[in-house]
Amino acid sequence: MARLPVSSSDSSVPRSLWQRQRWLVLRRLSQALVLLAFLSGPWFGLWIAKGNLSSSLTLGVLPLTDPLLALQTLLTGHLPYSAALTGAAIVLGFYLLVGGRVFCGWVCPVNVVTDTAAWTRRRLGIKTGRVPDAATRYWLLGGILVAAAVAGRLAWEWVNPVSLLHRGLIFGMGGGLFVIAGIFVYDVLVASRGWCGHLCPMGAFYGLLGRTALLRVSAAKRSACDDCMDCFAVCPEPQVIRPALKAVGQAGPLILSSDCTTCGRCIDVCDKQVFKMTHRFDQRSE
Ligand code: SF4
Ligand code: SF4
Repeated sequence: MARLPVSSSDSSVPRSLWQRQRWLVLRRLSQALVLLAFLSGPWFGLWIAKGNLSSSLTLGVLPLTDPLLALQTLLTGHLPYSAALTGAAIVLGFYLLVGGRVFCGWVCPVNVVTDTAAWTRRRLGIKTGRVPDAATRYWLLGGILVAAAVAGRLAWEWVNPVSLLHRGLIFGMGGGLFVIAGIFVYDVLVASRGWCGHLCPMGAFYGLLGRTALLRVSAAKRSACDDCMDCFAVCPEPQVIRPALKAVGQAGPLILSSDCTTCGRCIDVCDKQVFKMTHRFDQRSE
């Protein structure tokens, strides 16, 4: 006899396209809206956000500054304008609260490129390559801070792919196109999730901010996991899943690693509906 669905979260009920793509759609919407906030001025004369992802003024009153940029500026020996410091404090507070790498999943335009590269790599069935050590991004982060202090200049910002792509999308891509294309080719052919997962100093910096964040993904229904590995295949930081899903080194179901970008892709792809978005005090298993 056919089993009747018990609830909308019943894992035996086939899920709709929306349920399987919801977090991806919401993230792309968020990334597009952030871009539109900057484009609305030059395109329509409606200045929602002036500036760029590194430093901006929203609605003429709200300064927002990349705290990594502010830190580099301080290291060059220059004191940023007070509005820039206020903007850095606001952004810092926000990401300390919600999770630093929320920036990666929900704001950064490079994420669209690297997600597409990961998808392309999966479609082409490429398994080979050489992935850098996971600590490389922290060494690079240290390197750009030392470079700012030694050179007295914001050297990294000239080549930062995040700034290059964001500025390029607003004002037109120049040589930055080669940098972005290089990241795409590198992620497809050389290292799976190579740039964001192993090299990007910005991702490393924002990851450090996420250690105490409230917003978390939980493998709450981990007893339903059938080891299909779909979540591992799509996760940009697959090493973060195992401790929560398989209770390795921790008892609770929360994904605690600050490398998790809170992208929600594991929630989308899991037909057993193991994962959910929640807060860090929710230790319930279902
Ligand atoms: S790791 Fe770097 S490039 Fe990738 S999404 Fe995060 S900030 Fe953007
Ligand atoms: S664990 Fe889930 S939410 Fe976290 S990065 Fe991986 S796919 Fe995204």
